[in-house]
Amino acid sequence: MARTVAVIGAGIAGPAAVLSLAQAGLDVVWIAPPPEAGHDPVGETLAPAANPIIERLGLAEAMASAGHRPSHTTLSAWGSDQLVDRNAILHLEGPGLVLDRARFEADLRHHAETAAGRMIAARLSEAQAAQGVWHLTLEGGQTVTAEAVVDASGRSAAIARHHAERHRADQLMAAHAFLPHRDDTVEPTRAVLIEAVETGWWYAALRPDGSLSVAYFTDPDLLGESPTRGLDAWTRLIGETRHIGRWIEDAGFAVEAAPQLSSAGTTWLVPPAGRVGDAPWMGVGDCAAAFDPLSSHGLTTALWAGARSGGVLSAALQGDDTALEAYARSVLDGVAGFLAQRRSMYALERRFADAPFWQRRHGAG
Ligand SMILES: Cc1cc2nc3c(=O)[nH]c(=O)nc-3n(C[C@H](O)[C@H](O)[C@H](O)COP(=O)(O)OP(=O)(O)OC[C@H]3O[C@@H](n4cnc5c(N)ncnc54)[C@H](O)[C@@H]3O)c2cc1C
Repeated sequence: MARTVAVIGAGIAGPAAVLSLAQAGLDVVWIAPPPEAGHDPVGETLAPAANPIIERLGLAEAMASAGHRPSHTTLSAWGSDQLVDRNAILHLEGPGLVLDRARFEADLRHHAETAAGRMIAARLSEAQAAQGVWHLTLEGGQTVTAEAVVDASGRSAAIARHHAERHRADQLMAAHAFLPHRDDTVEPTRAVLIEAVETGWWYAALRPDGSLSVAYFTDPDLLGESPTRGLDAWTRLIGETRHIGRWIEDAGFAVEAAPQLSSAGTTWLVPPAGRVGDAPWMGVGDCAAAFDPLSSHGLTTALWAGARSGGVLSAALQGDDTALEAYARSVLDGVAGFLAQRRSMYALERRFADAPFWQRRHGAG
């Protein structure tokens, strides 16, 4: 009889894990809370490294017809006041995609729902392992047992945080909003725009639905008056930029709502996978390692880690931990590689070398 694995989480890594586990012939129970009303997730740049993983998970066809668009140009004011085409630095492997992220998540959910043996639309509240079995309690009191778990619950790491130590490189946070396009007479540029400022950096990308995704990344102690308090503070912040503000105004995007705040720092768990009471667990996606979005690593890593889970847990459930250990090493090697890349990217900006945000990332603060 197929062994049962529970997957916790319905973002990106969760459905990827469900598909991979089902492909490996395992029985999957998917604990997948339904999206909240009006769910419109941020983060739309998909790196080209994701393409082979999408293919392996059987999602290539769905991706091709979903209205995502190629992202050919990234203009950045980074290290200089001038906007420069920095594709070679920010996208080492060539162009990626600007996703319709909500559609992407819905497609992933649909495919994973079909592959899972059982899907439970609820949140996990507690997990314990003993004698090779995980006992999961869901909100509402329902219980589930499984021989292994995949924790894909994002930064909250609902299970993994109790069995690993969290490390953190920074406290980066994001204020983000989607701006509707109100001026039909202007065709907005399709380039992604990145702009460094004294207190952090900005990102703007035209979404496939025609709205502009705008995010400001900074440290919480540098935010000053929170832009979530109202439009004035958010409009003022946008107005302090050299390029982003002009881009928004000239192209006819409307700043109509205060932004939402979210964590965007680089954090990781040690170990990112292991055993508890002899029962295997794997952290995948942001749960295992969450990255500063500057390099657009998050979605690809979430897909990569989910796609590894079938092979890793099939072996672990037969008593062979080689793949589990290799997975944990790959995650930590990936984090080390990312930290080196992050240092060199931030090192390119020297105009604000005395400002705390940049000093922290240049290793001096
Ligand atoms: C502002 C911003 C911009 C970004 N831009 C990009 C970008 O352009 N490109 C890129 O590659 N990455 C980007 N990222 C990062 C990217 O969004 C994440 O890396 C990615 O969403 C991680 O996917 P995940 O599945 O691991 O986690 P999530 O997408 O966070 O999903 C976690 C899931 O777990 C569920 N969950 C949580 N707790 C429980 C529980 N107790 N029980 C059951 N389920 C639970 C949640 O409901 C959710 O479904 C950005 C991040 C931010 C903050």
